[in-house]
Amino acid sequence: MAQPAIVPFVQHQAPRGPRRLLAALLSFGAALPLAAFDSAVPPAQRSAVLVSWDGVGRERLRELLAAGRLPGVSALVRDGSQVDVDVTDHRTDTKAGHAEMLTGYGPEVTGVRSNTRSRPIPAGLSVFEALQRRFGSDRIATIMITAKAGNLGSAGPGFLRRGQPWSLVRPSLTVWDGDALRDASVVGQLALACLRRFAGQRFFAFFHFGDADRAGHQKGERSDPYAEAIVSCDRWLNAIAAELRALAVDRTTMVFVTADHGFDLARREHRDAPRVFLATDDPAVVRGGDQRDIVPTLLAELGADPAAVRPTLAGLPLTSIGPPESPTQ
Ligand SMILES: [Zn+2]
Repeated sequence: MAQPAIVPFVQHQAPRGPRRLLAALLSFGAALPLAAFDSAVPPAQRSAVLVSWDGVGRERLRELLAAGRLPGVSALVRDGSQVDVDVTDHRTDTKAGHAEMLTGYGPEVTGVRSNTRSRPIPAGLSVFEALQRRFGSDRIATIMITAKAGNLGSAGPGFLRRGQPWSLVRPSLTVWDGDALRDASVVGQLALACLRRFAGQRFFAFFHFGDADRAGHQKGERSDPYAEAIVSCDRWLNAIAAELRALAVDRTTMVFVTADHGFDLARREHRDAPRVFLATDDPAVVRGGDQRDIVPTLLAELGADPAAVRPTLAGLPLTSIGPPESPTQ
């Protein structure tokens, strides 16, 4: 696939002393973001940002990338990776997509089958809680900022209602900021503020952007507003990368971008939209896979053994080729 040209940045040949500062300032003045994650940093010392672009199918993503309209993703994957991810075991909607993306479990474990058939995700199943168990909740900040209410909500049970998916996970998080309909400019600013607040420690942050899904429902998957919404999300990806650089945590922070579900081609719905993606500046990601593989990938790349997680995760890290060989044939 054709990639748009990227301004080269020779990070390892920068001069030292005052000239180095000048060179850095000149480089940072460039409009394009520069993925700077350093895979030599040991996994247990890294932080990570996971961005969800709600309703962005990989067909349109590829098209916009090839047209040079997504400089944020282009820069992210330049030294990293972009792979195909498929949804295989649940309805292609917001509630079920994020439940699997952020727990690694299918509906039989989370109870989240679709926007209309769900229960609160049981406490302890999320990637946030798995990281806290492994490293200690005071050693890694867990952050969830979202752009939708109900389907990504945290309201507890009430009269004739079972409670929203994140109601039992929310109390464990260091930061929950959701339960509201917001556009990218609001979520983006909240995300940057959160990075500034937690840059001094390890963190795992999830930022959800709902703009493309909204535009797709209103105007359709082939519409300009749908494309513009994706471009707007890309600008915020750019801003997140720039903020990580400004905070001097870009070397230690991996950035991942994915989607809960895609969109039915040329339609205003996503009934059969399993084709999504994972884009990252982590070069260890070497293969495509299933949405259930995202959590094992995050855990492995943050230094937590996914095989040690209970209940057993069905997915495998996208950093290895296929299932490990059995020691006994
Ligand atoms: Zn939708």
